[in-house]
Order: sequence, then structure tokens, then C-alpha cells
Amino acid sequence: MDTIFHKIISREIPADILYEDEHLIAFRDTGPQAPVHLLFVPKQTIASLDVAKPEHAELIGRLALAAAEYARKEGFAEDGYRVVMNCNAHGGQTVYQLHLHLLAGAHLGRFGT
Ligand code: ADP
Repeated sequence: MDTIFHKIISREIPADILYEDEHLIAFRDTGPQAPVHLLFVPKQTIASLDVAKPEHAELIGRLALAAAEYARKEGFAEDGYRVVMNCNAHGGQTVYQLHLHLLAGAHLGRFGT
């Protein structure tokens, strides 16, 4: 399994990394869909939410909590934000390493089809 996100984790390609710990990394999305658009990615390989296992529960929780902490620290939690995980083709997933999008900085419209 070697996606573009693995290459960011291993520093083979650059990214604007805003947070990192032993479990996960967060960096700016290069195709932002909101004024603030970050991706929170586990270091362990998990292709998508569809193949996540019970043993990944803590790690997936860490992604959500890291995004929430970043939002509070950067001062946009009160105004609000959105977190999204796209899964497989109909979900619009294009990079097959599980990741959580954090979108903020504007009043976001409804989404769907
Ligand atoms: P989608 O492309 O529909 O948003 P995903 O949920 O799989 O599907 O999201 C992949 C995200 O990765 C996209 O928002 C895309 O802009 C972002 N991306 C792709 N390559 C890079 C990169 N090198 N650095 C940062 N973000 C990237």
C-alpha cells in the first residue's frame, strides 16, 4: 500500500504539515474546498473506512479528536466546522488511505448529490 499520503508521511513528497504525533499526521489539502481545509491521516495503513476493523477504533477516534483540538486551538471551533470521510467511489474517495477532512472558515453549504 503506497499512496500519496504515505509519501507525505515518509517525507518523500512535501506537504504543509500542521500537526504530527506518533499515530497521525495533519496537513493542508492542496485542493481546498473551504478557507481552512486540512487532512488528518493515520500513519498505520487503512485503505478506507470500509475496511477499518474494531482494532482501529481508537485510532479513528484520535483523528476526530485531533481535528477538534486543532479547531479549538486555531479559534474556529465556536463558529463551527465540518469533518468528512469519503468512502469508496460513490463517496468520492480518490486517495485510498483513510483520512478525515476538516473544513472551516466559512458557513458551509449543504452537501449531497
Ligand atoms: P476527494 O478527492 O474527492 O476529496 P478524498 O476524500 O480521497 O477524495 O480526498 C483526497 C484529498 O487529497 C483531496 O481533497 C485532494 O485535494 C487531496 N490531495 C491530493 N494530493 C494531495 C497532496 N499531495 N497534498 C495534500 N492534499 C492532497
